[in-house]
Amino acid sequence: MTKKINNGADKAVYTTCRCNCGSNSQCILKAHVRDGVVVAVEPDDRYNTGVGREDEVLSERDLIKTHLQRRPCTKGLVFHKYMYHPDRILYPLKRTPNSRRGEGKYTRISWDEALTTIAGNMQAIRQKYGRYSIITPYMPNGTVERLFSFWGAGVDSWGWCSYDASRMMAHIVAGERGWDYHEYMSGSAADMLANSKMIVIWGYDPTVGSSGPAHQLGWFIKLCRERGRPVIIIDPRYSVGAEILADQWIPIKPGTDHAMFLALAYQLFKNEQWNKQFVEKYVEPDGFAKWKNYVLGKSDSTPKTPEFAEKICAVPAETIRALAELIATVKPAWLLAHWSLSRKSRGESTVRAFAALQAMMGYWGTPGAGPPLIIGPRRNIPVNASWGPPGDYEAPKMYRSHYWAQAVLLLDQVRSGELSEAEYMRRTGWRTDPSLVKDFHPKMLFWGGGNKPHASDHVVTACESANTQVKAMLKMDFIVTMHSIMTASTRYADVILPAQDWMWEEKNVFQSGAYGGFECINYCPGVVDPPGEVRPWVWVYTKLAEKLGIDPKKFFKYYTTDENWDQDWERYQKEGYHGVVDYYKKRNIVVPSWEEFSQGKFINCDELDEKPFTGWDAQIKDGKPFKTKSGKIEFYSDYIADQTNRGTGQHRDHTGRVYENLPADWGELTPLAVYENAVRGMDDPMVKKYPLMMLAPHARYRVHYLFWDHHWLKDHIYRHRVWLSATDANARGIKDDDPVKVHNDQGTVVMPAYVTTRLMPGLIVIHHGGKFLPDESGVDFGGSPSTLLGGDVKSCITPAKAANLVQVEKYQGNQK
Ligand code: SF4
Repeated sequence: MTKKINNGADKAVYTTCRCNCGSNSQCILKAHVRDGVVVAVEPDDRYNTGVGREDEVLSERDLIKTHLQRRPCTKGLVFHKYMYHPDRILYPLKRTPNSRRGEGKYTRISWDEALTTIAGNMQAIRQKYGRYSIITPYMPNGTVERLFSFWGAGVDSWGWCSYDASRMMAHIVAGERGWDYHEYMSGSAADMLANSKMIVIWGYDPTVGSSGPAHQLGWFIKLCRERGRPVIIIDPRYSVGAEILADQWIPIKPGTDHAMFLALAYQLFKNEQWNKQFVEKYVEPDGFAKWKNYVLGKSDSTPKTPEFAEKICAVPAETIRALAELIATVKPAWLLAHWSLSRKSRGESTVRAFAALQAMMGYWGTPGAGPPLIIGPRRNIPVNASWGPPGDYEAPKMYRSHYWAQAVLLLDQVRSGELSEAEYMRRTGWRTDPSLVKDFHPKMLFWGGGNKPHASDHVVTACESANTQVKAMLKMDFIVTMHSIMTASTRYADVILPAQDWMWEEKNVFQSGAYGGFECINYCPGVVDPPGEVRPWVWVYTKLAEKLGIDPKKFFKYYTTDENWDQDWERYQKEGYHGVVDYYKKRNIVVPSWEEFSQGKFINCDELDEKPFTGWDAQIKDGKPFKTKSGKIEFYSDYIADQTNRGTGQHRDHTGRVYENLPADWGELTPLAVYENAVRGMDDPMVKKYPLMMLAPHARYRVHYLFWDHHWLKDHIYRHRVWLSATDANARGIKDDDPVKVHNDQGTVVMPAYVTTRLMPGLIVIHHGGKFLPDESGVDFGGSPSTLLGGDVKSCITPAKAANLVQVEKYQGNQK
């Protein structure tokens, strides 16, 4: 492998920030490089150079076409410091002999030894325990699956993260597999600015969550507000977004939004303010009648009145009535129920209820009406070339990815007869042939980092409790991990492979995630050389394939030799970009040539379209039937209603497509999105023992785990603390900065308190992605909310849950 570009003279290079934050390469970084080192980063300046407030110099059309600088957030501006972090993994490492997993003692080894050791262990474990003995933790890994496909053994999981419930719902309600069909992500900021008359947001702080470059969605909301359009934010926290962007903040008990949706629907039905024409044309009538009867209380004798909802969600009935009236009269309202709403038990019903609310208002496919499912237009532009066909073996996606540790640990109970196979499958979200349970012997963990070397860390990323995961890791014969930096998980690995940074050290074409709109295609030119013996992640897998006896050219068809890797990789990128050129050619649009593009001329997709993207155009505007059985939006699922379907392996819809995110036994999922109290929610009897609800929202200065130990984003800038309402703190004699113990049946965290009036009493916040730093007994002194998550075995479709019941008390012991 040759060393490459941009060493030497001072120069500025444009690249894109590829954090998994929600913006995902929408932001442009102008990196200053000196002697092969990034010494400074500036924001994008390729549009509107020298302009402070861009909206003052832009026409409406420019704004709608997002003819705007793609400015990064604080994290992107200092990300380069991470490349030079003292904890950066520079060489392949193996656990030092006689050290314990978790101790973090490692010895440098060569790449050849690392890959030979991994391949040897894979072969030995397969030989001893069979085909289904090598597994992946949290989040499926397509690259590992590809390796397995040639090798003929291995197991993967199903289910990703943030919006799994919405993807499942997209299939049940609209007949579209959410992962394949990108129009389910409708509603862009440009559409909002052009067409909305009011903005109502549930569970999202636009100043923290990145949608668009940095917080550009928030900026568009601000522009809307300056144009006199009311902005309402509904959130248990008095967030910065609620403070600076909203005309009205409505606090709500966490996990109860579903009840509020029902009460809004009730008001709209009662006052005949729903869109009859739309419903008649696009909604399946029997399911709609069931929904209406349920909302009005005709089927269960409980009308879902604002008073009914007030008792559950603590929003005054008169506030709900006033909001319903606004929604009915200020049209179209941009209604956004963000991902957080489903990140608790029974979240899949919450998102279905919201989709029903949107549909009864006729807001599917309506410009300015916000996304009925999730936000972010996607044009589905192909940017990646194929690596070549996969092998013949298809690794079964056995368990729900977030329950990987349960899938390991509960097997002992199955084998001893304490737990039935049926119950095991229900608890782990089993989604493959039930007969495979008996052949499942997980003994090796492959935490590959996938194509996101920095992305995350499964121990602290809202899987089941961190301690449960550690227990499962300790049961493994062998663990391999790929990452760029030492994390909570890497310390348990037997071999660690150092991954190259894909936005600073590698050439890559990236299509933005486009959450919030602002879709673009950017290029990372490989700004600097990687340090030490860090290698590209695809090279690592290709060489591991070779060690396993697989032709590396079959694994990655562009591979020729190690020496040619850089050229091979560039060829692959270039070919991927041709897919972009072809996509636009079909629309008679000329985009930059590869040469221009790779020199920094990016593609702003919004500029190339005549109007902002609105989802569901094909069905609503062009009259194509939805792919549901009825051809319409279905509020009621006949498939879920039919109990004979439950418990089989994969479920298929009437067209033969596998149902998205639907495990063999779907637990308590109901055919209609009826309200039930959340398991471990504020109405759970457990509240007597654990009276406070913990929420784990995203932190302003982290992307999941990433940046936890970035010294420019910590301590003086950001205090990782337990946020505690003044009322709850006073009741416990806790003052600001006191060390406190937060605990429940899943674990214990010790960290300082931040006493605030920004939270509803009864609620605490520990921001997502804190590092798990356990003592010998598993008490976490780092402050990972994951330590306290888990325990809900009722709904395994909903994404990684970010809420649980806890107790808080003043900590009396020594602080570590
Ligand atoms: S918003 Fe996300 S992608 Fe953009 S600079 Fe910040 S962390 Fe990077």
